Amino acid sequence: MSGLAVTGAVLDGEIVGVRCSDGAIAAIGAGVSPQPGDVTIDAGGAPLVPALVNGHTHAAMTLFRGYGGDLPLMRWLREKVWPVESRLEPEDVYWGTRLACAEMIRTGTARFWDMYWRPEATARAVEDAGLRATIGGPLLDADGGTEKMQAGALRDLDALAERGAAIDVALAPHSIYAVSEALLRWAGERAAERGAAIHIHLSETEQEVTDCLAAHGERPAAYLDRLGLLGERTVLAHGVWLDQAELELIAARGSTVVTNPVANLKLAVGGVFPYPAAREAGVAVGLGTDGAGSNDSLDLFADLKAFALMQRHAAGDPTVLPAAEAWRIATGAHARLLGVVQEPLSVGAPADFLLLRGDSPELGIGELASDLVYAASGSVVETTVVAGRVLMRGGEVEGTAEIVARAAERARRLGIG
Ligand SMILES: [Zn+2]
Repeated sequence: MSGLAVTGAVLDGEIVGVRCSDGAIAAIGAGVSPQPGDVTIDAGGAPLVPALVNGHTHAAMTLFRGYGGDLPLMRWLREKVWPVESRLEPEDVYWGTRLACAEMIRTGTARFWDMYWRPEATARAVEDAGLRATIGGPLLDADGGTEKMQAGALRDLDALAERGAAIDVALAPHSIYAVSEALLRWAGERAAERGAAIHIHLSETEQEVTDCLAAHGERPAAYLDRLGLLGERTVLAHGVWLDQAELELIAARGSTVVTNPVANLKLAVGGVFPYPAAREAGVAVGLGTDGAGSNDSLDLFADLKAFALMQRHAAGDPTVLPAAEAWRIATGAHARLLGVVQEPLSVGAPADFLLLRGDSPELGIGELASDLVYAASGSVVETTVVAGRVLMRGGEVEGTAEIVARAAERARRLGIG
């Protein structure tokens, strides 16, 4: 069967070929060459690496980039974000997500976990862009409306289940402070029933922990566990204030924590995700950008550098997180749930990989993993392949000019562009 073949790539210092078929890697290694009918790329000695996985974002919030970002969190949400979100139409979400996808393709992300309104429009945008995503519409009932929220979530789940293989489905209760106990419990039950993932913000601010202790007499992870939301298909975004017992509980349940270091810095949460303790406890860990409203970039290379620097700084120990380990976390290899079901770049793994500009100023000298973490930005990505399809070649994503124009038009329509 014909597919995509890459020749002359460099993997771990060795010249290799890769053949992709049906969205997966069919062969990889020194002797691999194209078969008749294959689309062929001559990598010309470019480094071959796995694509990146953005474990937490709100893709369509590209529309909010640079809008009120200097305000404190609650004022930003109440005065800027929420009034505009009440006017969102599916086409706004579609073009905002297409814009996010263009940026992610350009900077090497193949797969992302999304929590945003109008999830069906997000799914359509992801499919049209050629990426993969786990998508859930947010659940919030802090101001009431639980039943309406449930009915909408069931409609979204049904609609998302109809989409193609690139889309996985999640229930996405926003957080323990914006969702009632009843709705959290309901989300856990529906996720179990439908085999869907759970995607929730947890322990982002210290206030959240204090409030949870006051209201429920237990810390956030224990509270979620009691309500049935901690499982192997649960992604917890942030986890800044998790303590040792919570990390051990999360590890025992097999849940994944996605750290969003740049968003944490920008929103000035005042703490750092305790990665060394999480690793010690055996917690699966991934890396995310969070939304473009609170980062504001979707270039995961920037988050990777911030992650490594913050961990070294917080530990007062430059040996605490080796560059190769940080890089693997950004590829999803430390959290099976994030989408890389096996070691990336092996036969049978999803054909999601990058060819890098090996001759770029940032990568020309030095050890590759260290350069990728500390020197590179997403501009070192030359080719992005997702599910065996070439989404970018030569650093250009086809159709970007139209996507930028259409997204800007939608932002102007909303009065924020
Ligand atoms: Zn978020």
